[in-house]
Amino acid sequence: PTMAHSQALLVLENFIGGKFFPCSSYIDSYNPATGDVYCRVPDSGKEEVEAAVKAAKDAFPIWSSKSPLERSQILNKLADLIEHDLEAFAQAESKDQGKTITFARTVDIPRAVHNFRFFASSVLHHVTECTEMPAMGCVHYTSRAPVGVAGLISPWNLPLYLLTWKIAPAIACGNTVVAKPSEMTSVTAWMMCKLLEKAGVPPGVVNVVFGTGAKAGEALVCHPDVPLISFTGSTLTAQRITERSAPHCKRLSLELGGKNPAIIFDDADLSQCIPTTVRSSFANQGEICLCTSRIFVQRGIYSEFLKRFVAEAKKWKTGNPSDPTVSVGALISKEHLEKVRNYVKKAQAEGARVLCGEGMDPLALPPGNQKGYFMLPTVIAEVKDESCCMQEEIFGPVTCVVAFDTEEEVIKRANGVKYGLAATVWSSNVGRVHRVAHRLQSGLVWTNCWLVRDLNLPFGGMKASGIGREGAKDSYEFFTEVKTITIKH
Ligand code: NAD
Repeated sequence: PTMAHSQALLVLENFIGGKFFPCSSYIDSYNPATGDVYCRVPDSGKEEVEAAVKAAKDAFPIWSSKSPLERSQILNKLADLIEHDLEAFAQAESKDQGKTITFARTVDIPRAVHNFRFFASSVLHHVTECTEMPAMGCVHYTSRAPVGVAGLISPWNLPLYLLTWKIAPAIACGNTVVAKPSEMTSVTAWMMCKLLEKAGVPPGVVNVVFGTGAKAGEALVCHPDVPLISFTGSTLTAQRITERSAPHCKRLSLELGGKNPAIIFDDADLSQCIPTTVRSSFANQGEICLCTSRIFVQRGIYSEFLKRFVAEAKKWKTGNPSDPTVSVGALISKEHLEKVRNYVKKAQAEGARVLCGEGMDPLALPPGNQKGYFMLPTVIAEVKDESCCMQEEIFGPVTCVVAFDTEEEVIKRANGVKYGLAATVWSSNVGRVHRVAHRLQSGLVWTNCWLVRDLNLPFGGMKASGIGREGAKDSYEFFTEVKTITIKH
């Protein structure tokens, strides 16, 4: 960038021990809707991570000895402050990530607020266990204590939403944290740092180090004073994190990718199922780990489903994320757009049929968005189960629709991938719904709906979709260390 240009750029700073620090080098961050560099993100490494871990370690004794109620009040205050600035956060998230302003306003930021409120409340309601052994004259009980400095690493698709889903339980339980958001979407985390002091979060309790996974992320994963890592991102990165953290025997929570099936039986209520399945395929440009990307439709309704599904998908307007009539914004990066487009090309080369979207329909973009990373919602039919489009996570606005005959067959095919995160089942037969839900290898099964979440209950994946669960009780267990104490009287 030229000098004049660079002055206009937003420059982020690391947040360590309650203070902002510039970094010696920076990474360019793009506005996906225009293709312009608009922000510079610190390119932190070992040194910055070292300082952040030290600050978190120093803050731990005081923060961990506060009562849950004191911590709860601070979390609630932080929730109020983010909510007060909801519009500014939503605008920033949309500009940084490419998602529509509507999605940021109604999903991302409200959920970030809710994450703090939810854990502020839930942390007050845990009880420990107690057993008695009268014959031995003993009482046993468990106690739980925060672990220490938690390393939190989050992806670019739901930036503040997923980062706060980790920060909130970690600090509610009395840990201190070093967080590393995705280098592609760091702005809202930085904005949140500016509110911490006012909320009453003591310096060093929440530290945010910006940078790449290879430098800042690995430094955090390898740091001997960080005993637990909570990671959300791709399966490949999780493998690397597992390897790098193994010498330290760290506690890991891994929330990874998916290749989520929707199973639609011929007795499904299509008037509900079709709009919901379009949403589950294309919400947030298909960049949600829970998005549907394999749709199995029972043969009797297959052609009717396909016709109505494509018509519904075509209603989703792609374009400027700030336009309230737009449902599909920009993809995160040029490279990612290329990767997603390549999947469509590969499917075509294998003989699959593209019914709408990429290469089929015109994409009309406003003048300011010509260089943005846009792609139309794309529906592919007649794809083989072995095809990479049916096996690999695409993470874009692309979904495959195939026919099936029997319940037995579809369960086998739905389970025939390495992932196991989320599935949806559509049927009005309640017995079948339970039967199928029990047999699917999937951490979450939604029947006759999608993305309805109760944060109390476990969230997470099976197989290559992850290890561990997050939720009221699950996050509490992850972020605390349990001890069994025996008293002889
Ligand atoms: P990614 O794995 O590339 O990156 C995630 C984070 O890890 C980023 O902050 C990145 O900088 C960091 N990272 C990368 N390499 C690292 C390393 N060697 N050591 C430490 N940190 C490293 O994932 P992404 O592309 O940002 O996100 C998309 C992926 O996230 C998809 O696979 C999606 O399914 C998954 N995801 C899962 C969930 C879930 O809850 N299961 C939710 C959202 C996204």
